[in-house]
Amino acid sequence: MGRTGAWRVWLGAALLAVGSLWAAPETRVERLSSHAYVIFGPGGNVGLFLAPEQAILVDSQLADGVPELLKAVRSVTPKPIRYLVNTHVHPDHVGGNAALEPQVQAIIAHANVRTRMAKAQARLDPARRGGLPGIVFGEEEGRGRMDLLLGDEEFHLLHLGPAHTDGDLIFGFPAEHVLQMGDMFFNGSLPFIDVAQGGDFAGLTAQITAICGWLPEDAKVIPGHGPVAGRHDLERYRDFLKAVQAHALGHPDQEPAALAASFPRAAWADFKPIEGFVSWASLFGAVTGKGPGRETKP
Ligand SMILES: [Zn+2]
Repeated sequence: MGRTGAWRVWLGAALLAVGSLWAAPETRVERLSSHAYVIFGPGGNVGLFLAPEQAILVDSQLADGVPELLKAVRSVTPKPIRYLVNTHVHPDHVGGNAALEPQVQAIIAHANVRTRMAKAQARLDPARRGGLPGIVFGEEEGRGRMDLLLGDEEFHLLHLGPAHTDGDLIFGFPAEHVLQMGDMFFNGSLPFIDVAQGGDFAGLTAQITAICGWLPEDAKVIPGHGPVAGRHDLERYRDFLKAVQAHALGHPDQEPAALAASFPRAAWADFKPIEGFVSWASLFGAVTGKGPGRETKP
């Protein structure tokens, strides 16, 4: 425990703060298309996708939220949950894995998610371990892709390189124009680049730009946190990331705090800091490679 333990407790609290920023403590289901739903709750947003015979859950929120999460799934479908997919390693997205593991056929994620989870769990009491992804894809670097073909339905799992972490995946349901992005997109706040877990701001910017290039006009985008968005919201986010990047490149001698002060923030007021977690200075810390991407405790 000691320092690492305290840091973990704090990071857990900070990640919960991300969830509460949008004040959605109650579990709530929103239908996006014929076979796609989003479940809002105490952790990260969860996607629910229906194939002819089975359901797929994308992310598992927090351990404590699983009973309510399952109630929400059952309010939509009696189909068994065949696959649980994780968008990345953070505890507000994989926290329910261990509780859900006995009833799913497989947990799927990028290889780096399993590696990082296994490393973190090695320090835990054996009773608190479990829920590691059993099917993984992706190399240490570069892109990776896996398709799930279930009856007539096709789902795409894509890793585009390091962004929010080094194990992000986006989950696409092309037939119904639905895309779940995990924490590569916080709808309504500054992004968090988790540098300690391989996150990369330039990678995030490049990937959001690429996604905007192929996303259909009427796409529904499930962010990691915040309400469901559309292509125009993602384009606004792309423009924001590019403005931040250009500002840092244009002032190579400025420290993160100075960059935060000189950035024209009023023009981007729809991207809000997350109290105690991500500030303008911590964002520029990640952009310039001089900070961890989040606020650090004094
Ligand atoms: Zn995250």
